[in-house]
Amino acid sequence: MARKKERTEAEKQQLLDEAQRDRERRLQGYRERALRIFPSVCAHCGREFSGKRLRELTVHHKDHNHDNNPPDGSNWELLCIYCHDHEHSKYLEEEWYEEIQPGGEKDPPATYRPFADLDALLNDRKKKIS
Ligand SMILES: [Zn+2]
Ligand SMILES: [Zn+2]
Repeated sequence: MARKKERTEAEKQQLLDEAQRDRERRLQGYRERALRIFPSVCAHCGREFSGKRLRELTVHHKDHNHDNNPPDGSNWELLCIYCHDHEHSKYLEEEWYEEIQPGGEKDPPATYRPFADLDALLNDRKKKIS
C-alpha cells in the first residue's frame, strides 16, 4: 500500500517536472523565434540589445494571450523590460478606468452628518456651563 502511494507521488512529481520543462521549452521557443524574426530592438523605445543585455528584451503578446503564438510572429512584439512593464500597467489602467462607469459615483447621502451627535453634546455642555 505504502509502496503504491510512493510511486504515485513520484509519478505526480515527474508529471509536474515534465509540465514545467515543457512550459520552459515553449517559452524559450517563442522567444528565440521572435528574436530571429525581429531585429533586437525594443519596439517602443527603439533601444538596441545585444550580448548579455539581450536578456532584457522580452516577448510581449499583443493580445496578452501567451498561448497565441502564430509562426509569423504577428502576435509578438519585442519590448525591453521597462517598456514591457509600462505596456502592462497601461493595460491594467485601461481596465481600471473601464470599471468606473460615468455617473456611477454617488454623493454621500445628504442626511449623513457625522458630527450631529457632537453638536448636541457641545450644546448640552454650553447649557450646563451657562
Ligand atoms: Zn523599451
Ligand atoms: Zn506582455
